[in-house]
Parts: sequence; structure tokens; C-alpha cells
Amino acid sequence: MNLILLGPPGAGKGTQAKSLCDKFNLCHLSTGDILRNEVTEQTDLGKQAKSIMDKGELVSNNIILEIIKKFINENLSKYQGFLFDGFPRSAEQADMLDAILNDINVSINKVILLDVDQSILLNRIIKRKKEEGRKDDNEDVLKSRLDVYFTQTQPLIDYYSKLKLLEKVDGTKEIIQVNQDINMIMEAI
Ligand code: AMP
Repeated sequence: MNLILLGPPGAGKGTQAKSLCDKFNLCHLSTGDILRNEVTEQTDLGKQAKSIMDKGELVSNNIILEIIKKFINENLSKYQGFLFDGFPRSAEQADMLDAILNDINVSINKVILLDVDQSILLNRIIKRKKEEGRKDDNEDVLKSRLDVYFTQTQPLIDYYSKLKLLEKVDGTKEIIQVNQDINMIMEAI
């Protein structure tokens, strides 16, 4: 089973991803986590990505393709499937994912949209900054990340809707309730 978690920054994708992966033995593929790790390790790739991430913009598709392919190859045989979190983020990346999955003969079973109103996101991000200390969790960078989301990522809602893969979940509910709503979708697959 392969899933995509879609939603704006601060929608709760990371939180939901962790419990879903535990419950359904999925591999959590978070491009944001992988990139932050590269930055911490000060790899060449991390050095290239850092300033772009600090601005809240999208790192190049070449970098994303490289990390995704490596991560999938390393984890393919270990899990029941992948949960994609923070990827794809644009139409081009959705095409990239289709091609990668095609090569290994698997497909996306569901795309879960965590729907959260923009007004709630800022408060959540400020709270996360206090808890996790992420450098890109501040008001200016959030604005740019939201712009990127609305212009580049949101069109994917339509794309996956047309493919009849999209399920919308109210991401403003309590974490546990959102979790149960997603579990119900998963169990119906
Ligand atoms: P996230 O943790 O998913 O919010 O990602 C943090 C930052 O990493 C983003 O603001 C981007 O700069 C970069 N990033 C993460 N995933 C991607 C992606 N799929 N494509 C391009 N940039 C990404």
C-alpha cells in the first residue's frame, strides 16, 4: 500500500505520518526530514539545499529525484509500502513519482488531503517553532511556504481527484480524531 499525504505546511502531515507508518508498517518518506538530515550532516547536497529551505522555496527537482530514488531503493523490501509526506509538491514531481513507481511496478493507492484553513496554520507553525526549533518556522518564511503551496502544490488536489485517488480529511480536528478518520480510509482500501 502506497499513500501520499497532501496538505499545507502546519497541517499535521508529519504527526499523522508517524502513527500511520507504525500502524500499517509503511516507510515514512519525508523529503523535508531527509533534506534536514543532509543539512545537519553538512553533505554537499545539504549545503546546496540549505539556503533554499531557509527561504521556504522548493529545492531543485534534480536534488529531490536523487534523494527519493536512493531512499526508495534502500527501503523497498523492508516495508508494506511508502507514505509520501511533503512529496510530490508540484505537477512535475507528481510525474516524477509516477515514473519512479512505474519502474518498480507499484502504484499509489490513496492520496489523503489534510484540509486546514490558512488562518489556523500560522498559530500551529508558531507553536511548532517553540517545540522543535525549526529555522523555517517563522512568519516570513511561512508566507513564502504557503505561496509555494498554493501555487505549486495545490493543483495536485485536482490532479489526484481526477484519478479518483483523493480523500479529504478535516485536519482541524484533534490529532486523535484526524488519526481515526484516516484509519477508516486506510481500512477501506
Ligand atoms: P517540509 O518539512 O516538508 O515542510 O519541507 C521543508 C523544506 O524542505 C521545504 O520548505 C522545501 O524547501 C524543502 N522541500 C521538502 N520537500 C520538498 C520537495 N518535495 N520539493 C522541493 N523542496 C522540498
